[in-house]
Amino acid sequence: MSERAYNFSAGPAMMPAEVLEYAQEDLLDYKGTGIGVAEIGHRSDEFLAIADRAEADLRDLLAIPDNYRVLFLQGGATGQFSAIPLNLTEQTGSADYVVTGIWSKKAVDEGRKFVDKLHVAGAASEYTYVPNQNDWQLSDDPAYVHITPNETINGVAFAQTPEVEKPLVGDMSSVLLSEPFEIEKYGVIYAGAQKNIGPAGLTLVIVRDDLLEQGRPAIPAVWDWKAQAEAGSKVNTPPTVSWYMAGLVFKWLKKQGGVSGIAEVNRRKAGKLYAAIDDSELYSNPVEPECRSLMNVPFVLAKSGLEKAFLRQARSTGLVNLEGHRSVGGLRASIYNAMPEEGVDKLVDFMRAFEEASS
Ligand SMILES: *Cc1c(COP(=O)(O)O)cnc(C)c1O
Repeated sequence: MSERAYNFSAGPAMMPAEVLEYAQEDLLDYKGTGIGVAEIGHRSDEFLAIADRAEADLRDLLAIPDNYRVLFLQGGATGQFSAIPLNLTEQTGSADYVVTGIWSKKAVDEGRKFVDKLHVAGAASEYTYVPNQNDWQLSDDPAYVHITPNETINGVAFAQTPEVEKPLVGDMSSVLLSEPFEIEKYGVIYAGAQKNIGPAGLTLVIVRDDLLEQGRPAIPAVWDWKAQAEAGSKVNTPPTVSWYMAGLVFKWLKKQGGVSGIAEVNRRKAGKLYAAIDDSELYSNPVEPECRSLMNVPFVLAKSGLEKAFLRQARSTGLVNLEGHRSVGGLRASIYNAMPEEGVDKLVDFMRAFEEASS
């Protein structure tokens, strides 16, 4: 087998090698059943045990209170952009959004299809900072306030969780499990798995019990949170393999010292990378220092025309997928939990050598 590269993709992203190795055997024969884990029934005892274990470990890792439900759904974060208004706006028909980057903008665009009165309560004029909460203009009676705590494309993150009266809804696709946060400050948290949780195909929704009663009469069954909560996320066939793999990632994460353990490593990794960028003449990152993401680090080169060479040479050193998002260009290193610190060290060394050679 060829050596594994350090994969800086924003998603689907790198997964822990240990998890992938462990899964190999279960894919062929799950615990002596003679059937692979992708082939077992979603209502079998074996799968129910996998599902329960995964939820219990996730609850442990995030200290999820008992009055929150965890749903294992499909359709990605993008599916939730429409599920959120359908499940929450029966009573008021209005919702507030804070726009801090391309993903929260997409949440607004999709939300407008389903929310009668969608109000942008705060918006960054360029996606390099989070607008001060004192400058937000919340509407009178929004069903919820939607934020994107970590903007995966722009590398902009909230330094603190805002305190609002109405239920806070957070798109945590690229930041869940990377550092501790207080679930209680949110009414709903959701995340596509392919960034920091496991393979694509699984979407986590963590929702406070009382918010399961705010849904409209007609919601597509697969995105009806209440129906899914009652059915143990099995209104239809769930993404069994992604769910199983996410469970392995949760176990792995516990071995790394849990969320607070990995957060320490994450802060160190990001610190090294931002320092390398700030110390250089060639690289720069436009995000205000206190809003810099620990997970997604976009940067540009001061000299035009060097990007292709940078990417090519990085690739030949085993550092892959450093292209910025297709909508913004430039470069970006996503350094989720599964990216080993050595991967970041290697990237920093490469960046220094590349700058020297090009000056
Ligand atoms: C990746 C991402 C999405 C889109 O996720 P899908 O699962 O592809 O729908 C939405 N929001 C954020 C913050 C993301 O990082």
